[in-house]
Amino acid sequence: MIVEEYDAKTLIRSSKTSLFSWSEAYLNPYQGCYHDCKYCDGKSEGYYMHDDFGERVKVKRNAPQLLEQYLKKQGFFPINREKTSTLVDYFPNLRDSAASKTPGKYVLFIGGGVCDVYQPAEKEVKMTNKLLQIANDYKMPVSFLTKNNLILRDLDLLKKINEDSYASASFSITLADEETQKIFEPRASTTLERFEAIEKLRDEGIHSGVYFYPTLPFIGDTDENMKAIYNQAKEVGAEFIYCWGLTLKPGRNKREFINTVEKNFPDLLPKYTKLYSNEDKYGNLDTEAFKEFNLIWPEIKGYKLGYELGLDYTSKRYVPEGRIHFNLRITEILHRIAYLKSLFIKSSKYEISKLNQASRIINNTEEDVSKMDEKNLKEIGVDEITSDYIFEFAEKKESIYLKNLEKEAYESVCRYLKSKEQN
Ligand code: SF4
Repeated sequence: MIVEEYDAKTLIRSSKTSLFSWSEAYLNPYQGCYHDCKYCDGKSEGYYMHDDFGERVKVKRNAPQLLEQYLKKQGFFPINREKTSTLVDYFPNLRDSAASKTPGKYVLFIGGGVCDVYQPAEKEVKMTNKLLQIANDYKMPVSFLTKNNLILRDLDLLKKINEDSYASASFSITLADEETQKIFEPRASTTLERFEAIEKLRDEGIHSGVYFYPTLPFIGDTDENMKAIYNQAKEVGAEFIYCWGLTLKPGRNKREFINTVEKNFPDLLPKYTKLYSNEDKYGNLDTEAFKEFNLIWPEIKGYKLGYELGLDYTSKRYVPEGRIHFNLRITEILHRIAYLKSLFIKSSKYEISKLNQASRIINNTEEDVSKMDEKNLKEIGVDEITSDYIFEFAEKKESIYLKNLEKEAYESVCRYLKSKEQN
């Protein structure tokens, strides 16, 4: 492993919320990932990473300064720090008023992008640890997604942040069989180590779940593998499993994966080659080949398994300090409705796009939408059907519609899977 430091120009990337992540700001001090997973999307040319992505790791040496500058510019205040380098150091009675003037917070996703922030380099460099300490100083909620149990090194800090606001640390887990896992994720923690880490985090009250992503066709989407992962997730107390299939972008990403299949699973090579023969720029598989191989979307099987085990299909949204509770909660509900309708229940693309549009608008609205009537909602761009979901949540403080939809989605996937069995 080669580790190189450099000065970066930027660190923070704003992002729209989604079922995948409720965070609105992403930061990653690394480029390249020594875990070297064979399906890694980060190796795609579109991310402009270096060629030896899996061997050479670049570290943004000025990441702590960039984060600090960003938080200050946004108007946040290092409330947990004794010396703040502000007037508060000279006039301590200003501390409370300075803290109360900070704007609405959001969850910082430390990681994201395409490099694991707890990869082996972090053991020596400790850059993620420095960023986490800054998040703690500013009392910012944090979220992580990793394949390395090195995150447990920072358990005390995560606990402290979770007590102050919110910390979540989830794991990407795709393969139950350790031999197969080592082929595709050669330098990540083992599957067992990742499950053990989730258990430890959950024991300490940290939020944690599983990203069953990417689910590899013919290998990861087997009943055996899927059941093993869902059952173990339940056993260790994971709060959710987010399940999603494999994309292979044309170029390095696809080439490396196909080479790995050729070497280790030669019988599967013709199937994979055909399944991803369409050269889709986003890496999506060929749906005609998918039908020909009689495959089932892993999200469908995963939804059934999760529903039966009482495992949520995504993480619950945390509402940070200073934000409008109703708006963020209804945004979560709308995202969930859109997800269920787009994957498991026949719905029009128009309806889904209206739901997603409304979620985005409400997420960024400064007014409490629970106080709006249909006319006000229409003015900000929310359609009539979506307004009904909002009114129900405002009145009942829960979405019965969503609960029923989750049940309907379960019944729909059961029917579908049964019909596949019979064919
Ligand atoms: S851990 Fe994530 S970023 Fe690192 S190589 Fe694996 S898939 Fe890529």
